[in-house]
Parts: sequence; C-alpha cells; structure tokens
Amino acid sequence: MLNLFFIFMRDCIFCKIINGEIPCSKVYEDNEFLAFLDITPINKGHILVIPKKHFVNILDCEEDVLKKIGPILKKLSLAVKKGVNADGIVIGQNNGEYAGQVVMHLHFHIIPRFKEDGLKHWPKSNQEYSTKEMNKFAEEIRNNII
Ligand code: 5GP
Ligand code: ZN
Repeated sequence: MLNLFFIFMRDCIFCKIINGEIPCSKVYEDNEFLAFLDITPINKGHILVIPKKHFVNILDCEEDVLKKIGPILKKLSLAVKKGVNADGIVIGQNNGEYAGQVVMHLHFHIIPRFKEDGLKHWPKSNQEYSTKEMNKFAEEIRNNII
C-alpha cells in the first residue's frame, strides 16, 4: 500500500512542480505550501494553491494541513483580487473524478471573476425537496459526521 502511494507521488504532476522537475509561474511559497498560475486559466490570474505533502484531495488530507491552508487562501485571494483588479473571487476545489478532479494532488483554485466575463458559476437548480425528504437528507448527513 505504501509502495502504491510512492508510485502515485512519482507520477504526480504537482509533486513534479514542487520538486522543480516541471516549471511553474510561482506566486507564493512557504515550507508547506506552494501557489502558482494555472496553465489553462478560467480567467487570467487563476492560481492553484497546493500543499507540498501529497494528498489526493480534501477527503484524505490531514486536518492540520487544512487548518493552515485557510489563511493562505485568504491572503492569496486578496492578492489575486488586487493584482488583476477582479470584481470577485471564486475558490473551487474538486474531489474525485466525477466531481471534475483531473490532477490527483489536492489543490484549491483561486479564480478571479469580472463583472462582464460572461462565465456561469453553475446551472440554475431545478431540483426541489419535499419537507420529509429534506429532513431525511439532513439526518443522513448528520448521522455520518465523525
Ligand atoms: P482539477 O480539474 O483537477 O481541479 O484542476 C486541475 C488544474 O490543473 C486545471 O485547471 C489545469 O489547467 C491545471 N494544470 C494541469 N497541469 C498543469 C501544469 O502542468 N501546470 C500548471 N500550472 N497547471 C496545470
Ligand atoms: Zn502529488
């Protein structure tokens, strides 16, 4: 199992960026985190923030890392907003192939948004709950908080 983990890391594009094997346009670095421009930005100035330790996504990430990354996301969101004169900021983070995750190394997208950029955040919902169903979904989730 441990061997499998190291094979994933060896082939991980973001681990290669951390190790300097692949170049990146770095905007922030400390002992535990790195942030750099996304190579195919949603809008120019779109950055990715990653822990240097390899985790697949938020579901396997150590809590301590998540506690530390919050203030960095805020600091870098402010920097992106000011740096590219954005009207808003989206922070996105995909977990799993079916949630749109392509690179299997935990990363947060910080995406500048502009008043007239024409992007759609996500489609308007056409789903509804009955009260009974809503209570049931809430209960299922409450029962699985560990
Ligand atoms: P995901 O869909 O996994 O949440 O997003 C992965 C992101 O990584 C994509 O937005 C993609 O453009 C970016 N990306 C993939 N490969 C590279 C790379 O080699 N360098 C940089 N800077 N970004 C990359
Ligand atoms: Zn990695």
